[in-house]
Amino acid sequence: MIQAQYIWFNGEMVPFAEAKVHVLSHALHYGSSVFEGIRAYKTNRGTAVFRLHDHIQRLYDSAKIYRMPIPYELEEVKQACRDAVCQNGLESAYIRPLAFYGFVGMGVNVPPGSQAELMIAAYAWDAYLGEGSAESGVDVCVSSWNRLAANTMPTGAKAGGNYLSSQLISGEAKRHGYKEGIALDVHGHISEGAGENLFVVKNGVLITPPVTAAILPGLTRDSIITLARDAGLEVREEALAREALYLADEIFMTGTAAEIVPVRSVDGITVGSGRRGPITEQMQSLFFGLFDGSTEDKWGWLDPVSKD
Ligand code: PMP
Repeated sequence: MIQAQYIWFNGEMVPFAEAKVHVLSHALHYGSSVFEGIRAYKTNRGTAVFRLHDHIQRLYDSAKIYRMPIPYELEEVKQACRDAVCQNGLESAYIRPLAFYGFVGMGVNVPPGSQAELMIAAYAWDAYLGEGSAESGVDVCVSSWNRLAANTMPTGAKAGGNYLSSQLISGEAKRHGYKEGIALDVHGHISEGAGENLFVVKNGVLITPPVTAAILPGLTRDSIITLARDAGLEVREEALAREALYLADEIFMTGTAAEIVPVRSVDGITVGSGRRGPITEQMQSLFFGLFDGSTEDKWGWLDPVSKD
């Protein structure tokens, strides 16, 4: 159950119970929303939001694809995210900004001049794929549902409507007893999990599907690519066949909510030793080291919530 005191809504901090929309909101009927999922971590230098600028830039990029005007400056939205964490008294948090069309009429196309509404919630959210999943790993399956085809709906936009695809993929997986589903793209190549990107490790090389494989280009994915290369590891973005999952030495999934989670089996076939592999563990410690200071933040990824 999500609990918070305040939600930033259209420029104001409003009490949780008062952050409401009309039942005729456009987004509710037609999926016309774009959003972000961001984490703030308790670090050795106070609470900091991870890659805040990049997440809010992606929010604006998603809105741009749909020609959705967000009536705030990017810097204002960044500050509202920091404020949402602080005003709710959170030391670590999941932050959910959402821009959406509200009660602007019932036509599929919004009337010219319509602007998005914006809300930002911040709340505590634990391990997305279950307690202990970062150590023990998860069992996943390949979904019978494909990801969206190019030129149908853009997977590079983090848009509300896209998550119907994610619901089909993860819902099917859970009904069959798996923690998560991995989707192929319409060409049969590996795409991503319902809410996570995917890395395969083979002979010491990290391989992840390219942006053309109907993925959301995740910021955790980008962070892992950067950290791995910085540590001298080889990383390739290339198309992967389904059997690469069965023959991998290690597989891990990445996402803001999921963080970095090892995969211990795919379709009942054990991945590698069936335990978290050494490269997965190395990537976890480099990633989480950013927050305890053992990994130097060379990229300016940590954005403190209070500037004093
Ligand atoms: N793919 C999908 C479909 C997602 O929903 C997410 C989570 N935002 C990701 C990948 C991972 O992206 P990120 O690392 O930026 O959270």
